[in-house]
Amino acid sequence: MKFFSSRSRPVHLGGYPLERLARLRAPLAEFPDIPFPEVSFSRPEHPESIVNAMGPFQAMMDVLRTGPVNPVRAIIPEDPADRANHLKAFGYYNDASMMGICALPDAARLDKPRQSPGTGALARDLRERQTKTLAAGVDVIMANLRDAASAPATPLPAHTHALVILNAYPRDPRPDEPGSDWIIDAQAQRAALRATENATVLAEYIRQLGFDARVHSATTSDLNPGLCALAAGLTVWEGDALKAPWIGERFGLAVVSTDMDLAPDLPLSPLAEQPVSVIGGLAWQLGTHGGLSDRTQDPFARRDFAAGPHPFERLKRIDKPTTYIDAPNVPRIPKRTDMFARGQFGDMGPKVQDAMKGGHHVIKSAPSAAQRRLLGALILLQDGDITSDPTETDPARNATNLKAASYFLGIDAAGLSACPDWTWYSHDATGTPIDPPHDQALSMIVDQGFETMEGASGDDWISVSQSMRAYLRFAVLGGAIAQHLRNLGYPAKAHTVMDGDVLQPPLLLLSGLGEVSRIGEVILNPFLGPRLKSGVVTTTMPVTHDRPIDFGLQAFCEACNKCARECPSGAITAGPKRMFNGYEIWKSDSQKCATYRITNQGGAMCGRCMKTCPWNLEGLFAETPFRWIASNLPAAAPLLAKLDDKVGKGGLNPVKKWWWDIERKPDGGYGIPAAPVNARDLQTDLDLKFEDQTLAVYPAPLAPHPWPYPDPMNREAGIKAHADLVSADEHRARTARGET
Ligand code: SF4
Repeated sequence: MKFFSSRSRPVHLGGYPLERLARLRAPLAEFPDIPFPEVSFSRPEHPESIVNAMGPFQAMMDVLRTGPVNPVRAIIPEDPADRANHLKAFGYYNDASMMGICALPDAARLDKPRQSPGTGALARDLRERQTKTLAAGVDVIMANLRDAASAPATPLPAHTHALVILNAYPRDPRPDEPGSDWIIDAQAQRAALRATENATVLAEYIRQLGFDARVHSATTSDLNPGLCALAAGLTVWEGDALKAPWIGERFGLAVVSTDMDLAPDLPLSPLAEQPVSVIGGLAWQLGTHGGLSDRTQDPFARRDFAAGPHPFERLKRIDKPTTYIDAPNVPRIPKRTDMFARGQFGDMGPKVQDAMKGGHHVIKSAPSAAQRRLLGALILLQDGDITSDPTETDPARNATNLKAASYFLGIDAAGLSACPDWTWYSHDATGTPIDPPHDQALSMIVDQGFETMEGASGDDWISVSQSMRAYLRFAVLGGAIAQHLRNLGYPAKAHTVMDGDVLQPPLLLLSGLGEVSRIGEVILNPFLGPRLKSGVVTTTMPVTHDRPIDFGLQAFCEACNKCARECPSGAITAGPKRMFNGYEIWKSDSQKCATYRITNQGGAMCGRCMKTCPWNLEGLFAETPFRWIASNLPAAAPLLAKLDDKVGKGGLNPVKKWWWDIERKPDGGYGIPAAPVNARDLQTDLDLKFEDQTLAVYPAPLAPHPWPYPDPMNREAGIKAHADLVSADEHRARTARGET
């Protein structure tokens, strides 16, 4: 937990107070002989090691290290310092521990570029793999990926600058620690994977802006990453080792080289010349700069990996979720019911369909266009064959290992439950019936990030990217967990935003990751609030289950209407919970919500409900009383909700706005948006009444057919269906009378 807020700390400065370090006066003229890090993702002698499963994901990113450059240069600030700060902020947004920039030294170029053996194998394998997804624009991504996979390696072009990404190791897992069976000796691979994910997105982003860029990872590279880190002022070379302040030798690197002109950082002065107060004094102990501190830099310093970074052990566990699920009567619906699928097939009219052509609703924002290339490519790794018999058969040990591995890799919260048949869609993307193949679920959530959310309105030009960033993180880490399960002999699939066969909210409830919130299908977590995206890995591996949680949210949301009041499309109900398809929820108007998100002119997509919710917290010690009162004194909820407005929480913090407001134009280049940018503040004067809302819902009887062609929505029928929804009590009574 943090003592000092980051409110006034710009995002490009990052978590460590790098700006307070002593630096040399000029770039380095000579460089030491720094060895290239040897990081292998192949460990056949240890089939239980998670490292084997991370290999294909690292290889996929290596395949995407280059790519076509947008022929139209974006309209972006000319100042190299502005550009440098922007790209560093993007790197921190992607969770780098440190970011630095250097003019690319000739000495950093390798005489013999590295290429991992895994990359060539994956490139050959990609030709065989097919996709089955409803996501728009994936055909373009696949064509692009196959081109990249079959392209011969070319010499590094005349790049002038390098962006260096440093990812710190958490503490080493102890061999006697519960859950450490699969994660021993995997630090270098973990750091390489996370840094490479960041670099892959940044390089693609730079190319989307019309400049060339290439990734140099720990496995495939034209550059010596250690030498770049030294030149970019992230490390020093002392005692024949690279050392980073506060971190020491425990980190991994990735580099993006580019021809974009960027303001470089100066090299660091020797560690002995660094101000003691900055490196180890009270300021660092407390984190007075608002970033990381000695206490918070490693969330696992005092916790087992299997327990995760948040104190879930303090929550009240219950046998059933706090909202009713009529499990025997939950109807299974086709995947085609998803509003984004309906929009794409024209069910919601030509305006929505046009806005989705080629995935335009996502790629109109440059950061998410960059994230989407990798996210789409990873569809090919979500599922696969098993090649051995199962070995790990102890359910409790499996559960602990799965959670420890998820948290070690970087998932923010994970929970285990059964995966009942009623949580599976009835038909897949082609309209083929789904026979549920797995009965166990590992649900995971990824924080969308407090820092960027602070600077955003929730529906501006970074909104879609906040979602894609979290979806991508799950696709990499959840995908690696699914691969690991298959390596251990159990079928497993990672269900991502691009290709998933299960409904995730009920699984999140069953696995104790949150409660139903007023926002509707968004499950709210007590530590992250609604500021999250989820993913699920299904499998047949036997595991013990977590139990649902109760942290008082039902009473809180009853008393608080803030998300409904702030929703730009008026899609969130201000009324009571109702039964929908067998679930008791605050049912929102998903058609209104999806239409607004897809056709938003002043930004790309929307997450304003997450932004403005009082549970969207920074993780400060000062927030402890709020959490306790909100969870334990339901009568105080109206007061807390009002207080949240009074102190301006949920408003805009311009210090945190690091992204550029640019929009993809018809010529494919990014430039000034046509419409005014959404920069909303709170609407505290609005008194939203349920009786003034007109909402539509589409329960199972109004669901579309399962096939990939149009089935127009009937909004009048949806409005009537909303009026006909009943409470959980009434539903139970009708069921008892045999009326449902
Ligand atoms: Fe619940 Fe209020 Fe958050 Fe909406 S804004 S989800 S009503 S706590």
